[in-house]
This record gives sequence, structure tokens and C-alpha cells, in this order.
Amino acid sequence: MNSIINPSHPFFLYARKSTDVEDMQILSIESQLAELREYAARENISIVEELVEKQSAKIPGRPVFNGMIDRIEKGEASGIVSWHPDRLARNSVDGGRLIYLVDTGAIKFLKFPQFWFESTPQGKFMLTIAFGQSKYFVDSLAENTRRGLRQKVRRGEFPSKAPPGYLNDSRTKTIVIDKRRAPIIKELYEKFATGRYTLYDMAVFLSQHGMTTSGGKIMRDKASWILSNPFYYGHFRYTGEIHEGTHEPLVPKKLFDAVQEIWKKRSHSWHEERPVKLYTGLFRCGECGMMITAEVKKKFYPTTNHRATYVYYRCTKKSKDRKCFQPFIREEELDRQLSNMMQTVSLRQDWAAKMLEKLDGEKADAAHTCQAFVAEKQKEIIILNGKLQRLLDSYLDQDIDRDDYRTRKATLLSEKKTLEESVTRLQQTQTAWLEPMRAWVKEASGVDEIARGEDKNAKKVLALKIFGSNLTLSHKIARGDAREPWAALCAAPTSRKMEPLVRIELTSTVYDTAALPLS
Ligand SMILES: [Zn+2]
Repeated sequence: MNSIINPSHPFFLYARKSTDVEDMQILSIESQLAELREYAARENISIVEELVEKQSAKIPGRPVFNGMIDRIEKGEASGIVSWHPDRLARNSVDGGRLIYLVDTGAIKFLKFPQFWFESTPQGKFMLTIAFGQSKYFVDSLAENTRRGLRQKVRRGEFPSKAPPGYLNDSRTKTIVIDKRRAPIIKELYEKFATGRYTLYDMAVFLSQHGMTTSGGKIMRDKASWILSNPFYYGHFRYTGEIHEGTHEPLVPKKLFDAVQEIWKKRSHSWHEERPVKLYTGLFRCGECGMMITAEVKKKFYPTTNHRATYVYYRCTKKSKDRKCFQPFIREEELDRQLSNMMQTVSLRQDWAAKMLEKLDGEKADAAHTCQAFVAEKQKEIIILNGKLQRLLDSYLDQDIDRDDYRTRKATLLSEKKTLEESVTRLQQTQTAWLEPMRAWVKEASGVDEIARGEDKNAKKVLALKIFGSNLTLSHKIARGDAREPWAALCAAPTSRKMEPLVRIELTSTVYDTAALPLS
């Protein structure tokens, strides 16, 4: 968008505040109007009409907003001025619609006193993110915490409560061996590896040493958990993956493997048949809002003498305020639905390739601009070095006194430092958005493979990235809104005809993908 606005482009002024928690910190409608009028006057923006809405923008279907969009499509105005993108949309449908209108040229200007927007691929990408309610890539506390945890994991530190036999040392923030309980764990492994004990024996052993106090079933659970946890030989499991740890092992890998062999040999044992309840903690109940948990059911078929184990998911029904009547769902069915949902945000391989190509172009362009800028700054630095040299000369020739020399030198050095820093800053920031974008494109193009694949752990991890905590289950139907920027992949209006893209602008490509007929 040009910075100079032609007065023949009329604007709508849009102010919105709802009773949403998200809107608590937002300026009142009166203040928004006052600020926007002043901003419009300053920016020479001509306002056709001021529109005020008092509804949440989290779900599509706001009457004033929809009316405004219809009027823009009819050509009554070609710009919107609003306090911040989050006033216009907090959901991917409305956000996508706005970006679509920008792409088609129906909206020529979007102006926000609180957000700088430019109609470039980067600008539109940032706008998509600003429209999102999850503030992906924005420094939200949750994301930083998660990043902190991931860094910890990469360093080999288990980012959670130490398992029995270990302690969390709050002083050094590391996990250390619990001298009192560690020998009990070792003995547990050694005993079980002999093959002479049952899991129940092991549970009794633990409780005799004061390590579990709950009922029999839970004790066995605990024993089997300890006896199959890689933490004890020096690795650890985190979000379904095994990582190398930096903590001291309690048992040799050989002993651990011997114990796993025992599990395997007892193929009909309780442990072997215990399947992983993988999707626990991923969904919430659509009726009462409680978490969905898993339950294992065993079935015996007398005719074939065959035993089968099924995993069912159900609401924990822990709500005290309301009774929940939701039914069970089989894991296979839930898995199938989750895969389908994930596929709606997968990015076509050929488009991903084009986008990556475009990103390479952006990178090259940026490098080019950067080079020119750096060259210019370096010239200035050379000039400053010359001045410094001459200053020193005149001091040595005793043309100026010591104090004068010092003051002037300090000024020149300060200027030099500022120049040097501006070069570093440019090099760091100019392409900062490219890498997250590239990583995301690659991830989005791999969604289909993971959704269809057998690696359920990878599927769960990816589902969490895409949907966050937005997944619900009600009447055996899984639902979930993809977070930004994933949501952009399923936000397009279905009426839009698909054609191969000649124009590859990043955000619009992300957007176009969604118009694909969903397979
Ligand atoms: Zn429920």
C-alpha cells in the first residue's frame, strides 16, 4: 500500500469492544473513536461512516462487520481504519476474508494506529498472525515457557518432576539421585529381571519400602511404570520422544533390556496387553468441558479362544455442576477423525515447493538490500576512521589540547558504534521472519504424511501444534479449530474457484490452498 492516500479512497472507521476477557485491556469504544478520528485527520483519511460493534470477534458472524464487508465488496469504500487488527478479526474466517479482499484489491488500505501494515508477503503474513487469537509467533507467555522447556530438553534435562529414586534439586535446577530410594529401585530391577516375580510381587516390594501407599491396581501401575521407564538408564521420554539425558543412570542399560525381555516373554501378561492411551489429555468434552481420558477394555472371544484389548476414550465427568451423558468412542475411530481434521490444514507439496522457492527469492532480495545498506554504512565508518586519525594527528601535533581531544574522540567513537550496531541489527532482523516461515511451510507440507501415517506420537505432537487446546469431543465427533497460522490453510471461502497460481504471494498462497476440495 502506498503511504500517500488518495482522498478519493473512502474509509470505514471500525471500532469494537466486547465483554470478552481478551478485550478487557482494550480501549473503550469512545476512546477508540476519539483516537481514530484524530489519526484519520492526521493521516488525511476521509471517513465515509463510523461503525461500532459490541460483539466478540472470536466467532464469525458479527452483523456490523459483515455489513461493512458487503459494502466494501459493493465499492462503497476501499479502506478500513481500526485501532488494531484484533479489532477486525479474532477468527480465521473473518481474517481470511479480509486478506482475500486485500489480495483481490477490493480493500486498498488497511490502517491501524497500533500496527504497521504493508501489502507485501511479509506484511500479510504478519497480519494473518495478528488476526489469530492464539498469537502464534508472538511473544506470549505460554510459547516462551514451551520454548524454555524445549531448550531444557535439548540440553538433556528432563523438564519435569523427577521419577522415584531421583530428586529435583531446586538449588542447581538439576535432577539428582535420591540416596535413600535409589537402592530400592535398583533392587526392584534386579529382582524382576530374574523372572521369578510377578508385577504384583513388585508392587508389594515397593509398598514394603514405603514407596506406594495406594490400592493394588495403582501399585502395579507404578511398578510397571518404573520398570519400563528409560529414565533409569539415562534417557528420558518427553512428548512421546526419547531424549538423551544428562542425569546419572540408576541401572545399566543391559539390566533394563533384560527387564523388557521379561515383559515380552510374558506375552499374555497384564503389562504386555496394556496399550498406550495416547490421546489422553488432547481433547476436552464438548458437553461439560472436562478432559477426555482413556480406558482399556478387554474382550475374550470363547469360540476362537482369542483375547483382544481395546482403548476407549471418554469424558472424565468430573464436573460437579453438571452431569455429563457423553458416550465412549473407540481409539481407532478417534484416530481416524483426528487424521481427517489434520488433513484439512495440510499444504500441497507442489505449493510448498513454490513457497519455499519464493522464500529463497525473498532471502536473496533481502541480502541484496542488506548489502547496499551495509556498503553505505561501511563508507561512513571509513570516513569516521579518517576523522579519528586526523584528530589524533592534530592532538599529536599539539594543535588541540588533551581535553578537547578526548571529548571529540568520544563523540566520534559513539557515532561509529551506532553505525556498527545498525549494520548488525539489520542483518539480524531483516530475514528474521524467513526461517520461522520456512519451518512452518515444511511442517505444513508434511501434515498429510503424518496424518495418514502410523506414528501416532508424531501425530499427537503435530495435532497439539495445530489445534492447541481447541480440540473437543462430543457425541463421538471430534472437533477443533486450527490455530494461526494453520487456520489460514482452511479458512478460504468454498465458493472460490481453484486455479493454479501464477502469482505466488506467500500469504495468499497459504490462503488459496484451503480452497482445494478437501479430500
Ligand atoms: Zn463431559
